[in-house]
Amino acid sequence: MVDCRFPDCRFGWYHPEFVRVLFLGTGTSHGVPMIGCDCAVCRSTDPRDARLRPSIVVDLDDGVRVLIDTTPDLRMQALRYDVRRLDAVFFTHAHADHMMGLDELRRYNALSRRAIPVYADAPTLDNLRRTFSYVFEPGAPRGGGVPDLVLWPIGGRFSIGRQEVVPVPVKHGPWDVLGFRFGRMAYLTDCNRIPESSLALLGGLDCLVLDALRHRPHPTHFNLAEAIAMARTIGARQTFFTHIAHELGHEATSATLPPGVALAHDGLVVDVV
Ligand SMILES: [Zn+2]
Ligand SMILES: [Zn+2]
Ligand SMILES: [Zn+2]
Repeated sequence: MVDCRFPDCRFGWYHPEFVRVLFLGTGTSHGVPMIGCDCAVCRSTDPRDARLRPSIVVDLDDGVRVLIDTTPDLRMQALRYDVRRLDAVFFTHAHADHMMGLDELRRYNALSRRAIPVYADAPTLDNLRRTFSYVFEPGAPRGGGVPDLVLWPIGGRFSIGRQEVVPVPVKHGPWDVLGFRFGRMAYLTDCNRIPESSLALLGGLDCLVLDALRHRPHPTHFNLAEAIAMARTIGARQTFFTHIAHELGHEATSATLPPGVALAHDGLVVDVV
């Protein structure tokens, strides 16, 4: 019997509900600071105000590691947080801030000497094939010039290692986006509406990650007030906001948030046990 690293453990060596989340980026599509902006947040020296494009790494207790989205900052994120291995990549949707780092996956092919499984809904896979046509055209030289990926369409719940993954469909203005639930953690980026059928998938959460863009309303993202209201509706023990624009300074905004709600920041690690 392996000694467990968690006090008062009821599981032993394997923890079906353990999830470690590493925030690789918590910024909106422009990142913070934005190019050519002199506002107080863009010029802030607080490291929590510097936000790369939105992405997380999820570590599961059987050692499986999942990357959610490949941002334009993926190379810098992987170097900064020393992410040397990935077992799968999930995509939430095919907007530029969530997919333009796809080519960086070549390094993980080289390091693992394996193809990387990629999971997304069918429309997102179609978008990836179109945007990165050089990767998917027949005869492309796998493993050197282009990433070696195996595409898996998501059609409902599926398993990764020992973990069941629950796709959570949300609305991002007119677009359909997938959130993902792993045990008692859920990641819902890029949304401004959560259908009733998806709310039903979000009970009993310990940790919720939710889109919260800025104070002013936006046609495709929750603003801060809407995100706080949605956090209350879902009722996770702790909610972290992501996809944050330069209007929201970390320190000043954090002081206004209700208990159990916080802004995430790049580099934040959350263990859900
Ligand atoms: Zn986005
Ligand atoms: Zn700014
Ligand atoms: Zn988007």
